[in-house]
Amino acid sequence: IGARLSVLSQSELYKAIRHHHKNDTRKNTHRAVKQALDTIEATSGSRPPPSQLWLALKKRKHKTLTQKWCAFNWKALHQAHKVGEYWLHTRMKDSRMPCTECNAPAESLEHILLECRVSHQELVWDLVKSQWELTGREWPCINMGLILGISAIQIRDPDGKVNHALTRLFQILVSESCYLIWCLRCEWRIGREANPMRRHTVSEVTARWQSAINKRLRMDWKLTSRAIYKKKALPQRLVARTWQLIAPNLQYINEKRIEGVLVGMGIERRPPGRNR
Ligand SMILES: [Zn+2]
Repeated sequence: IGARLSVLSQSELYKAIRHHHKNDTRKNTHRAVKQALDTIEATSGSRPPPSQLWLALKKRKHKTLTQKWCAFNWKALHQAHKVGEYWLHTRMKDSRMPCTECNAPAESLEHILLECRVSHQELVWDLVKSQWELTGREWPCINMGLILGISAIQIRDPDGKVNHALTRLFQILVSESCYLIWCLRCEWRIGREANPMRRHTVSEVTARWQSAINKRLRMDWKLTSRAIYKKKALPQRLVARTWQLIAPNLQYINEKRIEGVLVGMGIERRPPGRNR
């Protein structure tokens, strides 16, 4: 807003502010998309056009990402979550902008998902990593670009070919885990009024994570039903290959022998790790 305030009428002033905000939003989105594409290029070896990010979130190929995740991811790319600096120009700035527990001046989405000491992000990422290691692949460094661009990330085999099953598993694990961290944060900060006595416990978070991943596995399996989904049914082979490495009991899923946990058995015997 370059013009001198005194010479602007009220409506001109509003127009200028609105324009300024619009430009800000566009710049933020541009920055988030670039961050995602940079990480995709570094991880997958090729840089998709920005349109592919939006298209992937809209099309949800093979139903790998949930509708809820895609809405979250879309909002995150637009920096539209009401966290951190969103509160900068409001009266709630002092109470809502910072993460007081961590002494962070702004509780950004990145802070919540990757840095916060109270969102349980560290525990959740430990759980994912422990499952991913069953695939024999290295767990990559998770950063905000990877989260924002998860819809277009590709995991490749040593011969350079895209491994569709592992790509799918990675996308499911990362998106479900992020979404859980986000939900835990909102439950505690809003639902439980950030009461330190009412933080989620380690066993509670572990159970929630297992349940989220197992729910996805069961949903995936249901979606292979040709009787129900006809031509839209997911290829059974793809779903089996997605999960076989981390859910060795997968073959029992059609029998009623296993009602409970398929992914993450044995986690509860593992002490929660401190190092990622
Ligand atoms: Zn924090």
